[in-house]
Amino acid sequence: MTKQLAMAADRAALTEKIAAWLAPRADEMEALLKELVNIDSNSFDKAGTDAVGEHIARLLTGEGITVTRIPKQGFGDVFRAEVPGHGQNQHALMLGHRDTVFAKGTVATRGYSRQGDMAFGPGVCDMKGGLVANIFALRAINAVGGLPFPVVALFTSDEEIGSPTGQAEIEAAASGARAVFNTEPGRVTGNVVTGRKGGASFHIVVKGRAAHSGVNHKEGASAIEALARKIVRLHALTNYATGVTTNVGVIKGGNTHNTVAPWAEAELDLRFVTLEQRAQLIGEIKKIVATEDVPGTSAEVTTKALFLPLEEKHSKSLFDLYQKEAANLGFAVEGEFTGGCADSGFTGALGIPTLCGLGPVGGKAHTDEEFCRLDTLLPRTQALAATICALI
Ligand SMILES: [Zn+2]
Repeated sequence: MTKQLAMAADRAALTEKIAAWLAPRADEMEALLKELVNIDSNSFDKAGTDAVGEHIARLLTGEGITVTRIPKQGFGDVFRAEVPGHGQNQHALMLGHRDTVFAKGTVATRGYSRQGDMAFGPGVCDMKGGLVANIFALRAINAVGGLPFPVVALFTSDEEIGSPTGQAEIEAAASGARAVFNTEPGRVTGNVVTGRKGGASFHIVVKGRAAHSGVNHKEGASAIEALARKIVRLHALTNYATGVTTNVGVIKGGNTHNTVAPWAEAELDLRFVTLEQRAQLIGEIKKIVATEDVPGTSAEVTTKALFLPLEEKHSKSLFDLYQKEAANLGFAVEGEFTGGCADSGFTGALGIPTLCGLGPVGGKAHTDEEFCRLDTLLPRTQALAATICALI
């Protein structure tokens, strides 16, 4: 046998062994999903996100997998698990966030529940289902003795608020990786995510000058009028043809109906498709905010959160592999573009092959009706592990 043929045979044997290890474990996967969903873990709840991390760490270390805990202040710690390789560099990286958008106490009123193949509960698809996929893929790879290259899983805690502490850890963990797999929920169509918009949120503060609106209107400078003029121009940046959208979703300002408003504030959301658009748009937003629309007013803008886009050129090669492995396992899958942002944009932006939406299929994320299709938990975990094997 040539070396290449021998490698292909090794790869096929490993893929099969891993799929076989996972096959009888669907119930075990669901049991873990229930345990993880039933721990409240809002992004700002450090104790909660840490509890999820500790639960995962206990489980993995119990199987002899090394877990490193990276302490963070204010937000949950970052947990990094690794199955070492046999001599090859360039690890594969799986990403997952442990935080949810749901307030502490949600589990007490609306914990994990199941109806047929549908599971419900806070974060059940976004993305505790994905955490289960990562954990079982890593366990399976460990159980067969590892791959030629290291396989790493990173569990972060603040994705839902823009990964303020997660981003640097993700970029560090992705450095030198051969591929990154993010198990955000699979689309309702059953598809995975091959492209994502980047996004940013901004806080705009406008200062004006108060005056009695009847007695000395002329001496006032209306912060509300200045903000209104800015909003019209900010919204005009929307261009559906290029995928750019702007949305001022929150405004506040003023004191009373008969006072010229001395202050106004707004929250702006921006979405874009390419890194080039980002630089240009941020420049335009700063210009609009800095313009003195009403004499005597001034304004400032601060960036609250920033996600980078996952451009399809960075997901193509991995998607082709994934599609082939899924077909071998008996399911058809396509790639899909979404306007939602995720951590996969950070690694795509580094030029590292990245695929997203690899978790079990789910929907209605961030609502009380959020669901996860339990029948997709096992096959998609098998496809995830098989695609990692396909990188051998
Ligand atoms: Zn998510």
